[in-house]
Amino acid sequence: MQDYDVIVIGSGIGGLISAGILVSRGLKILLIEKNVNPGGYLVSFQRGDFVFDAAVDCFSGVENGGLINNVLKLLGVDSQVHFVRVDPVRVSIFPDMKVAVDSNMDAYKKRLMSYFPLEGAALVTFFKLLEDMYIELQTAINMLLSIGEFNKAGALMMRLGNMSYLQLLNDFFTDAKLKSILSDRCTFVGLSPSKASALTMAIMMLSYFKFGAYRPVGGSQKLADALVEGIRNKGGRIIFGSTVQKILLKYGKCVGIRCENGDEYTSKNIISNVDFVYTFNNLIGGEYEYFAKDMLNNVGVSTSYFILYAGIKGDIEQHSSIGSFPSYRMETYFRPDRIYQEDATIGITIASIEDKTRAPAGSHTVVLHEMVQVYDETLDKAHCTKMILKKAERILPHLTNNIVVMDAATPETLLKFTGNYHGSAFGWKQIPGFRGIKGPEIKNLYIAGHWGGMGGGVLAAAYSGARAAGEILTKEGIQIDI
Ligand SMILES: Cc1cc2nc3c(=O)[nH]c(=O)nc-3n(C[C@H](O)[C@H](O)[C@H](O)COP(=O)(O)OP(=O)(O)OC[C@H]3O[C@@H](n4cnc5c(N)ncnc54)[C@H](O)[C@@H]3O)c2cc1C
Repeated sequence: MQDYDVIVIGSGIGGLISAGILVSRGLKILLIEKNVNPGGYLVSFQRGDFVFDAAVDCFSGVENGGLINNVLKLLGVDSQVHFVRVDPVRVSIFPDMKVAVDSNMDAYKKRLMSYFPLEGAALVTFFKLLEDMYIELQTAINMLLSIGEFNKAGALMMRLGNMSYLQLLNDFFTDAKLKSILSDRCTFVGLSPSKASALTMAIMMLSYFKFGAYRPVGGSQKLADALVEGIRNKGGRIIFGSTVQKILLKYGKCVGIRCENGDEYTSKNIISNVDFVYTFNNLIGGEYEYFAKDMLNNVGVSTSYFILYAGIKGDIEQHSSIGSFPSYRMETYFRPDRIYQEDATIGITIASIEDKTRAPAGSHTVVLHEMVQVYDETLDKAHCTKMILKKAERILPHLTNNIVVMDAATPETLLKFTGNYHGSAFGWKQIPGFRGIKGPEIKNLYIAGHWGGMGGGVLAAAYSGARAAGEILTKEGIQIDI
């Protein structure tokens, strides 16, 4: 049986970042991934001559000085992957307005002030509050990276963490349209303004304003592949196509893992980048099963998606990231029955507009995202396909007629591929009062990824991986310096 300093289960961005930091600090790492490719939700795939990202539209943290960029540098593979900046981050299309979400806060503020002059003073104080919170956030993040802790949230962060985003908007604004426009990114967390934590929304908006939004050239797989190459170059071992079946415990401490094929490996540090429910119910099991059930009952899991991937012929005169909102009634978009309704919101990503490597000349990759709030194995894929195309044709007329290749993913596809409970896109629901995971202290077990309690999305999952690595390095008496 082989022994490692750290075993990482799962190669989502959280697993890759933790493995990357630890291996670059000289630890002996084993990373095990059930799929044949790394990345989890960051994988890309090819259909005909088109390259599609399976899930993600765009993310931050890859800019100079960003966490993911720093880890690529630590691993010596920063030149292996290139990124295109998406600016504006998105264009939100409402019935009578098209609003660009600038990746610069000041530009966005000025844009909104020009549309809503009567709310000008309120907009100034609202964005000042975001700026103030950013200072607290930086302190918290520096603490996380230096001592592996993230529990010293400042007063403003605490206040926002206890209120809904809608409450925050109501504190500042009276114009209903403006409040809806400022809620367009609620779809990025899958919760309505009245259900989403104001803190989560503020952090997500700030991440794009401060760091920008990016896509890897050639597809998000390029990022996962570069991290894998870097981890291997530094001596880390990675096994693909092997499913971890059990985390082995002795006297309440993790001591190793067993794979489905019977192979066992030992380590005094286990990082799980796998869905939390699966980690506690299956990989650990026994007396710890109650914990995942409590979390499911008290917090719940974030939305899943129906995703349509279409390679199309012809040019498109649109932005590469679009939110389509047929009304200003934001709360209705998050109701469970939306998937079958014509007035649902959808997201449209046309990554080939900026990145020509993804489609042949004169063609494009169009990826349509629609939230599915309730898991249903009987979801009718053909019907959802027809419906989502109809919804997309509000923005891209004749889309259906121009399709060359097409594929679709349901929540069940996402669950099977990544193991995320019910195909959840962002881990736990980021609701007011949610303070991350608190549960049985199982010695030597660390959670990395969007179930780690630091929020959903690529950057939050990456930070969770950095926190897991930080905790192990602190325990080992090794300086974390990224
Ligand atoms: C449709 C959609 C759109 C999104 N859009 C964005 C976006 O635009 N921007 C953004 O920032 N975020 C977006 N997200 C969210 C983001 O993709 C996730 O929050 C993030 O990628 C999760 O990373 P993770 O580290 O938690 O791991 P995951 O990506 O969940 O990966 C977990 C890994 O563990 C592996 N695994 C599971 N079980 C086992 C086992 N037993 N043994 C071995 N390996 C195992 C899986 O195969 C997988 O590779 C989107 C998500 C979805 C679904």
